[in-house]
Amino acid sequence: MSALQNLKKYTDRLATQSQKMPAYFIGHGSPMIALEESEITKNLRKIGEQVPTHTAILCISAHWETKGTFITAMDNPRTIHDFYGFPQALFDVQYTASGSVELAEETKKLVQKTELQLDHEWGFDHGAWTVVKHMYPKADIPMVQLSLDYTKPAAWHYELAKELAALRQKGVLIVGSGNIVHNLRMLDWRNPKASQDWAAETNERVKSLILQNDHKPLQNYTSLGRGAALAIPTPEHYLPLLYTLGMKEEQEPVQFINDEVQLGAISMTSVKIG
Ligand code: ZN
Repeated sequence: MSALQNLKKYTDRLATQSQKMPAYFIGHGSPMIALEESEITKNLRKIGEQVPTHTAILCISAHWETKGTFITAMDNPRTIHDFYGFPQALFDVQYTASGSVELAEETKKLVQKTELQLDHEWGFDHGAWTVVKHMYPKADIPMVQLSLDYTKPAAWHYELAKELAALRQKGVLIVGSGNIVHNLRMLDWRNPKASQDWAAETNERVKSLILQNDHKPLQNYTSLGRGAALAIPTPEHYLPLLYTLGMKEEQEPVQFINDEVQLGAISMTSVKIG
């Protein structure tokens, strides 16, 4: 699609937009989720069907870490196959949604906390396309990605999300994509359905803090209890959750979707705000 067509589509949608968008955190797990047909992917499809018409998606994926914060600003982002050792069919997937230079520029203006930089190289990494593909199989909603600045502490990401929250009023669907519990070294292939103690414990603790609207301990996640060091060994899969939570208003409802732990060490638990 041409840049001009993209701009027209964006402004047309913006003109008809009045409803505040929900914000999601989606547990993505293995890249193979892209090819799966399961209860989990069925629930993702339902999200796409239920969310009202919107202008664009802003995705914060675990798989784009940078020094400084970037936002994709190209009309036709490439599909990035940022993994290896998977079947050819997965490498063949192309997610052909357009980007939105307009949304990237608008977001840059909105953010005061840091100098948001426009990116022309990235595209859609698998944290984004493997799940959004199920939500929007027609790839007819433009999508941009925001990177995770790996030099910043968790609370900083939460605060940045507060600035981005205004986009929800402008018809932008927020999709954080990661996993609350994510430890690839601790996968238990012999008991794929059973959650290991520390995984279940951390997942439940995080959920209960979300329900209590108690976001401070979630930002200090390393002190979440004895299991947290195993459940969240590195921050990148957890941080997208803080973006979604940072956009929550106090009285907004919360819903959990796909609330299960896979291979004992990856929780697919997803969160809907609003
Ligand atoms: Zn991942």
